[in-house]
Amino acid sequence: MVRPQLLSALRRPAARAFGTTASSRSSSCSSSSGGAGALGFQLSEDQLSIQETARQFARDVIAPAAPHHDKTGEYPTDIIRQAWELGLVNCHIPSAYGGLGLGVFDSALVTEQLAYGCTGIQTAIEANGLAEAPVILAANDAQKKKYLGRMTEAPLMAGYCVTEPGAGSDVAGAKTHAVRKGDKWVVNGQKMWITNGGKANWYFLLAKTDPAANAGKAFTGFIVDADSPGITVGRKEWNMGQRASDTRGITFEDVEVPDENRLGEVGQGFKIAMGAFDITRPLVASGAVGLSQRAMDEASAYALQRKTMGKSIIEHQAVAFMLADMAIQIEASRMMVWRAAWLRDQNKRNTYYASIAKALASETANKCAADAVQIFGGNGFNSEYPVEKLMRDAKIFTIYEGTSQIQRLIISRAVADAAKQSS
Ligand SMILES: Cc1cc2nc3c(=O)[nH]c(=O)nc-3n(C[C@H](O)[C@H](O)[C@H](O)COP(=O)(O)OP(=O)(O)OC[C@H]3O[C@@H](n4cnc5c(N)ncnc54)[C@H](O)[C@@H]3O)c2cc1C
Repeated sequence: MVRPQLLSALRRPAARAFGTTASSRSSSCSSSSGGAGALGFQLSEDQLSIQETARQFARDVIAPAAPHHDKTGEYPTDIIRQAWELGLVNCHIPSAYGGLGLGVFDSALVTEQLAYGCTGIQTAIEANGLAEAPVILAANDAQKKKYLGRMTEAPLMAGYCVTEPGAGSDVAGAKTHAVRKGDKWVVNGQKMWITNGGKANWYFLLAKTDPAANAGKAFTGFIVDADSPGITVGRKEWNMGQRASDTRGITFEDVEVPDENRLGEVGQGFKIAMGAFDITRPLVASGAVGLSQRAMDEASAYALQRKTMGKSIIEHQAVAFMLADMAIQIEASRMMVWRAAWLRDQNKRNTYYASIAKALASETANKCAADAVQIFGGNGFNSEYPVEKLMRDAKIFTIYEGTSQIQRLIISRAVADAAKQSS
């Protein structure tokens, strides 16, 4: 399958370095010589090219279709196929398995643009990345060839099955369990809120394999084919926003999973499932930045043409300052995304920064969308105008992939650890 625009950009000799290895990235955001003087914020030509491909696709294809998918909840299969053909889906699958092998930083550039068009569609696309992250982190070569490889051969979807009806923030409380029987595992349990739940070709599954052990050793990760006997996919949930995305409960009843589909060692599942967030939280945050930027662009365009008391409302300081606050928060959020993503691409620990980026960007998205509605006045409350959808879509950013409270838990622990070390 040819993905013309991105692939041709990436095949240029200078582009090969970008995203494939941390040390050879061509972004001047990367500190190539390691000194503070090397730090800059100018994107490379290749990064500008990939960003522009995603920007055009979001504006020409995603944005015009977004209201339809929001109203009907219809899954955007054809749009995802087109995005996949352009190389905008599964960007970070390593080139050894047929992917573009982009880093988190470059993937974040793509995600922000896709989110600008519609975060429901972006979430459906991004959920592939979430399911693939544990596989990239922990799978053996044969597993990667089989499950990552197929994602690059056809526009397939995947899902990350961790949350349960009784355990979301409290992942350690998950009850789905897998019992070993010879060379197979038998899985029983229920997962909830699984993005791409009804569309996935395979799932990453976290299951308890040692109920007596502590969380760090009690769970094991598996790759489960979605058509395995015993899997029942629930109804599509009708959510507040991001309705293009497919969210479902999934029941596992005596589902047999071959041991060859076990990810990493028995007992390492919790670490693998949580480790994936270092890759995906910067990307969720970049989606929130895309939504915020859209809210500001819509609000500033409207404020320019809407007149009250003899002038454009953008000339009323109360409105103009709302736009200024949006700009401040958006720029700060984007910088945090870039920092968290860049650290990851340098193989440096980024958990703290990923949590800051996720909390800041998701709360910024909610504030920007709510203020955009305010700037639109009565029109903002109406579904004929674009901003009420942004406000509904924004809410989930503070909930999925760890709520804002859980991000603060992570951040505050790091702050406390630092305080202890320096005391
Ligand atoms: C649209 C959507 C898509 C999703 N996609 C996926 C997916 O693809 N895969 C997947 O596995 N999951 C997915 N989720 C699940 C999501 O990650 C969880 O909903 C989220 O982690 C919160 O868990 P919970 O719903 O059980 O809320 P709870 O954990 O019950 O939390 C309820 C409230 O209590 C707060 N809280 C809980 N514990 C603490 C604490 N220790 N300290 C402070 N506050 C706390 C929370 O912040 C929250 O405000 C999705 C959810 C939605 C709605």
